[in-house]
Amino acid sequence: MTVSIVVPLYNEEESLLELFDRLEEVMKPLGGDYEYIFVDDGSVDKSLLVLRELHERSERVNVISFRRNYGKSAALAVAFREAKGEYVVTIDADLQDDPGEIPMLLQRIHEGADLVSGWKRNRQDPITKTLPSRLFNGVTSLMSGLKLHDFNCGLKAYRKEVVKTISVYGELHRFIPVLAGWEGFRVEEIKVQHYKRKYGHSKYGSKRFLNGFFDLVTVMFVTRRALNPLHFFGRISVILFTLGIIPSMIFLIQWISGEPMRVRPIMLGGFVLIIVALQVGSIGLLAEMISARTAREPNYAYREYLVRHSEASSGESPTRV
Ligand code: UDP
Ligand code: MG
Repeated sequence: MTVSIVVPLYNEEESLLELFDRLEEVMKPLGGDYEYIFVDDGSVDKSLLVLRELHERSERVNVISFRRNYGKSAALAVAFREAKGEYVVTIDADLQDDPGEIPMLLQRIHEGADLVSGWKRNRQDPITKTLPSRLFNGVTSLMSGLKLHDFNCGLKAYRKEVVKTISVYGELHRFIPVLAGWEGFRVEEIKVQHYKRKYGHSKYGSKRFLNGFFDLVTVMFVTRRALNPLHFFGRISVILFTLGIIPSMIFLIQWISGEPMRVRPIMLGGFVLIIVALQVGSIGLLAEMISARTAREPNYAYREYLVRHSEASSGESPTRV
C-alpha cells in the first residue's frame, strides 16, 4: 500500500512541526510506503521556511509553494495532480483533525470505499461557523442527493482514481464528496474527533458560507453532471409558456366567435408569462451554447477500460490474452 498525505496550508507556521511529528508517529508503524505533499498556499509567515527544513530532513516530504494565495481548492488540485500513492489522504494543517484517525480511514478504503470523509460530530468552532455550516450541509445534501452530514471536513481519504478524475477549482473543495459521488464513486462517512484551533486563526469566516451557496449552483450547472442548462431552463420555460398560452387561447377563441374583446388581468398575465417563458428559454439556450464552446473532453470515471490497442497505434506493447 502506498499513501500520499496531502496538507494544504496558509500561514500555519506554528503547527507544522508538531503536525509532521504526529503524522510520522502514525504513518511509520503502518509499514507501507508513503509521501507527504505540503502545499503552501502563498503563506506570508514562516511556513515555507519550516517546510524547507522538513524537506531537508525527510525524503518523503514534497513541498509546493504558491507565490500568492490561490485558495484551498487550488492547493488540493495541484497536490492531487502530483500524488503518487494508491491512497490519498488530505488533512488540514491546523491540528484540528487527529492524524491518529488516518489508519481508520485507510481501512475503509481498503474495504472497498472510494472516498471516506470525516464527520466532525462535535465541531469545535464558534457558533458563527457551526450554525451556517449545518445549513450549508443540509442544503448541499438535499440538492446533491448525497446523504452526508459533513461535506467540508479537512480529513478525507481517497482511492487514487478519485483524485485523478475530479477537478477541484474555484472554491469547489467544499463539494469534493459531491463531485466524486456524481462520478459513481462510493462515498462514505466516518465520525472523527475535532479539536479547537491551537495556533493562528481560521482562514474562513462565516461570510464565506453565502459564497458556498453560489458555489453549489456552480457545481450543479458547470460540472454538468446534475443539471444541463437547457434542460433546466427549458423546462421552466415550457411550464410558463403553457400557463401563459392557455388563457390567451381562451380569449382568442372568444374573440373569433364574435365576443367583444375586453382587456382582463388574466389576459395580461398570460402575455407576461409568454414573454418571460421566451426569455427564460433563451437564457437556457445561451448557457448551452456557451458551455458547448468551452466544453473540454469530459473526464469520465471508468470502472473497467478493457480495450486492446493495436500494435501500430501505441508506444506501449499491447497485452495479448
Ligand atoms: N487553507 C489554505 N488556503 C486558504 C485557506 C486555508 O490552504 O486560502 C488551509 C488552512 O491552512 C488549513 C485548511 O486549509 O490547513 C483549513 O482552513 P481553516 O482551518 O482556516 O478552515 P476552518 O477549519 O476554520 O474551516
Ligand atoms: Mg481549521
